Amino acid sequence: MRADSPLAAARRQLSEAADFLGISEGLSALLAHPRREMAVSVPLRRDDGRIALYQGYRVQHNLSRGPAKGGVRFAPGVDLDEVRALAMWMTWKCALVDIPYGGAKGGVAIDPRTHSPAELERVTRRYTSELAGFIGPERDIPAPDIGTDEQTMAWMMDTVSVSRGYTVPGVVTGKPLQIGGSRGRTQSTSLGVARIALAALESRGLRASRASAAIQGFGKVGAGVARLLAGSGVAIRAVSDQYGALLNTAGIDVAALADHVRATGSVRAFPGAEAIDPAELLTADVDVLLPCAIEGVLTADNAHAVRARIVVEGANGPTTPDADEILRDRDVLVVPDILANAGGVVVSYFEWVQANQAYWWSTQQVEERLEERMLAGWHLVTETARDNDVTLRAAATAIAVSRVAEAHRIRGLYP
Ligand code: NAD
Repeated sequence: MRADSPLAAARRQLSEAADFLGISEGLSALLAHPRREMAVSVPLRRDDGRIALYQGYRVQHNLSRGPAKGGVRFAPGVDLDEVRALAMWMTWKCALVDIPYGGAKGGVAIDPRTHSPAELERVTRRYTSELAGFIGPERDIPAPDIGTDEQTMAWMMDTVSVSRGYTVPGVVTGKPLQIGGSRGRTQSTSLGVARIALAALESRGLRASRASAAIQGFGKVGAGVARLLAGSGVAIRAVSDQYGALLNTAGIDVAALADHVRATGSVRAFPGAEAIDPAELLTADVDVLLPCAIEGVLTADNAHAVRARIVVEGANGPTTPDADEILRDRDVLVVPDILANAGGVVVSYFEWVQANQAYWWSTQQVEERLEERMLAGWHLVTETARDNDVTLRAAATAIAVSRVAEAHRIRGLYP
């Protein structure tokens, strides 16, 4: 395991929380390791007839509070250690916002941009069928993540349903509305991130209408955050994706940028802003920085240069532990991923509840209940951090780990 890998970061955060809580070495070791993991080969017949082989994974980190829950990532760099880290963070996230799930994550090491929709459907169905005995509404419930979307979830649900002989809508979340998805799921992660960013600005005495933001990643999470924050009056000065980065100190027209990305596939060459080096986005002169792309982007090398006073982690694991220390010493408020981006799993939980009951809520009900959960999490974490004089991440991780540890204590050890 690389010292700067997401798994090393996740284990260091856990070990700090375990020390803070006085958790025994044995229980700490149990929490540091996945409950179950599966590695599968995913062969694909490409459209031209050749056969390609990909590696797929599903890791269930912890099941003490309920079935495992977590996204499926399609990206070239996916590996088992990355999936293990993401699964552990899912356990803490679900415990922190108090939903009755453990944590899981999955992925296939494939670049979805170089595959046709028909190829992606075949890969998804083969991967799902390899996991068929492992997932299910009471076992493990996948959802979209990087490189996957509601169509991927529809294929996963259909594959499981066909093999079982009846429709199983609760096996995945983030499905299309027409087949049992929830109203409000598509923008739920972004809504939660934006709501938390506004609360963080307010906590630092900043008004949204005078604030500015930089957003890394313009995908499902980042694009929604940009739109919602711009709608609250925040000037979105800088945006990037994996192809390029943009700056406009007067504020980027987010709706026009979204049209440009729909038409061209990337933020590059958007006429309403100047192109900058993508590394500059992280050190842009803004009030709030929102990494909404991948892990490990704020490091010991660039954390000194971050000018934002607030970092809100839309992505999972964007800040390394060394960067965390530097930002803490510089009094930069870092709102951790397990709180900031929990809106997606909260509405996934609502979707699963609705699918299991076959009774559907209105958008207003979903959004009100989401906001209630996010703000309850925000107040709990900020008060715990203040009372114990620790960072928001240390407080959030400690709350989550103590809930999972308590579930283990009550359930006991079998046999
Ligand atoms: P996505 O695939 O829809 O979008 C990812 C975006 O990041 C794209 O714009 C891509 O171009 C960009 N990107 C990739 N590498 C980059 C780089 N090196 N620099 C700048 N931009 C880069 O994925 P998503 O669902 O928006 O997920 C983004 C992050 O949010 C991930 O960390 C994911 O785990 C996390 N997350 C997603 C959800 C969800 O509901 N989708 C929920 C919680 C957390």
